[in-house]
Formats: sequence, C-alpha cells, structure tokens
Amino acid sequence: MSRPAHARIDLGALRRNYDTARRIHGGQVLAVLKADAYGHGAVACAQGLAGLVDGYAVAFLDEALVLRQAGIEEPILVLEGAFDADETRVAAARSLWLAVHRREQIEWIAAAARVRTAGGATVPAAGMHAWLKVDSGMHRAGFIGDEVRAAYEALRACGNVTGISLMTHLARADESASDMTAAQIRAFDAATQGLAAPRSVCNSAGMAAWPDARRDWGRAGVMLYGVDPMDSPTLALEPVMTLHSRVFAVRDVDVGHAVGYGARFVARRPTRVGLVALGYADGYPRNAPEGTPVAIDGRPGQLIGRVSMDMLTVDLTEHPQAGIGSAVELWGSQVPVAEVARAAGTIPYEILSNVKRVTRSYVGG
Ligand SMILES: *Cc1c(COP(=O)(O)O)cnc(C)c1O
Repeated sequence: MSRPAHARIDLGALRRNYDTARRIHGGQVLAVLKADAYGHGAVACAQGLAGLVDGYAVAFLDEALVLRQAGIEEPILVLEGAFDADETRVAAARSLWLAVHRREQIEWIAAAARVRTAGGATVPAAGMHAWLKVDSGMHRAGFIGDEVRAAYEALRACGNVTGISLMTHLARADESASDMTAAQIRAFDAATQGLAAPRSVCNSAGMAAWPDARRDWGRAGVMLYGVDPMDSPTLALEPVMTLHSRVFAVRDVDVGHAVGYGARFVARRPTRVGLVALGYADGYPRNAPEGTPVAIDGRPGQLIGRVSMDMLTVDLTEHPQAGIGSAVELWGSQVPVAEVARAAGTIPYEILSNVKRVTRSYVGG
C-alpha cells in the first residue's frame, strides 16, 4: 500500500458552486483559479469548468500561461497585471486580459502595440482587453478618484486597446456589519461615473452579502471551492476538496504519558492513539490544537498532540472499531474546512492553498 494521503476533488461540486455564484450575482462571473485553484489544481479545475464559465482569473502571468498551455482558450484575467513590458507583450500574444493599476502598465500596453516579425518588419499586435483597477478604499493598488478617468482616457488612446472593463476590490465584504463596503461602492461609482465600460466589484463575499455591489462581472474565488466567506453562512455550497488519509499505527498510552513533539498531549485517561499519515508538510496546519475536528471512519473524532511534518495523531479511545487502515478525513464533506481553519487561527483560503505533496484525484469530471 502506498502512502494513503490524498485530496479528492469533486469537479461536479465545483461546477454546481459556479452555477450558484452566477445565479446569485447575475451577469457574468469569472472563476478565480489563482494559487493553483486555491490548492485544488488549476488545470484540472479549469478543464472541469470549461464550457460553463465566462472566463477565469489568476494572480499573475505564469499562472495564466499554464492554463493556455493546457489548451484553455476562454478569457483569463491576470489580476495583478503585468510586472514589465515583456510580460505585457506575452499577455497580448496569448490573448490574456490584464489588470491595470498604475501608469507604467499603460505605457507597456502602448509599447506592445506593434510587434516585430521574424523577417524584421513591424506589424500591429493583437488588440488587448484591459481591466482598469480602481482603488475604492482598500489602498493596495489602483487608481483613485480623478486618476481613474485619466487612466481610462490613456488606455483609450492606446491604439491596441480593444476593450476596457472597470474593477475594484472590497476589503471588508465578509463583515456584514461593516459600513466600509457601502463606502467603497460609492467611491467606485463616483470615480467611474459616465465611463462606458462593464464593471466588476464582487468577490465571493460581495456576491454573498452585498446585492448593491453586483455589476456586470463577478469574480468568484473561495465560494467555488465550497467555502461561504461570511461568518454566518447563507449560501448552499458543496465542499470540493476532501483531504483524507489513513491510520497506519495504533498504540495505547497510559495516564500521565505524553504523545508527540513537545510532549504537548498528556493522557488524562487510558488513551488509544491512532497515527495518521498526513502532516504539516502536506498542508495540514501545524498549529491546529488538540480537539480540532476530524472524521474517523465517518464518525466525529479529534486531533490530539502536536501535528508533525508527515503525520498527526487522533484519539481513537471512543472509536473501538477503528484501527490500522481506518479512514480519516481532515476536512471535506464531513469536517468543514472552515472549522479546521478557525481552530488553527487562520482562514480556509490559507489552509486550502497550502495543500501540497498529497496525491490529488478528481471525480465528477
Ligand atoms: C482573489 C481575488 C478574488 C476572489 O476572492 P474570493 O474572496 O476568494 O472570492 C476576486 N478579486 C480579486 C482582485 C482577487 O484578488
């Protein structure tokens, strides 16, 4: 038997979550596949969504090129935009959509208007679609206030820009009580007033909780993977990843004896400890505390002891039927990844995108 640490990815669930995103938001929705599709495998997820989606989004050029090389022909938006003129040229040649958030990027687009052929002639390059990024209050990147109109006009003056969309990003949309989202919507609308272009405001939380933020395009990330971004979930989403492994050793530990690094767990009762083949080098959070939920042969169970690099320990005391070979789900359809994230003091985004080294298998393709 080879190492039993696996991530099972349900592409049917991914498609249904995409449908949910589009039904909620209306208009068109980009499927965000950055960070290897939040740890789910970008190429397989893109193929699983092909024919259904209006387009994809990734963080940077290389992530987009991986999808193009795999034969994905739908639009792909590069959310961070180009880092230099060469990247801009490559993006144009591969028909990628580039976010534009600072002046230099517009100059690079203008410079990419003509390409040199193998014979040395200079010919017009393919047209580009730019997504002009508006800083409506998050203050990471983007044009602010009056700069927006100037950037829009500068893009229009580039002969090779054949389409412009207007986008902004919400900083606190996952907090239903925050007034920042309404302020960002107002700032975006004011900065873009009168500009003839499709608009995009919503990430997953925007779609879930802020009907006023819905525009022509949504950008669905974490909700595609079955995670409701709000503290009080309202969306009917299905988990896409099930991270699972098996018990491969069992031992009885007497009262007062410790288990694992740091001897952090000390048995307060005679304890049956199951050793599971999955650890922090596979992406399971090392700081998950004792009591973090797992499922053992389909029944609720708990993590005990410190998570190691390649393995972790679970409490089998109340699982007398369990033993070597028992199935352990770390998160998925039985253990919500949001609960594991909360226990570990982080967010599902981080632990999903950290998954590595385990073998991935795809169902529902
Ligand atoms: C990552 C990202 C998204 C998707 O965010 P989710 O919260 O995962 O839905 C949308 N827009 C931008 C600009 C992003 O960087």
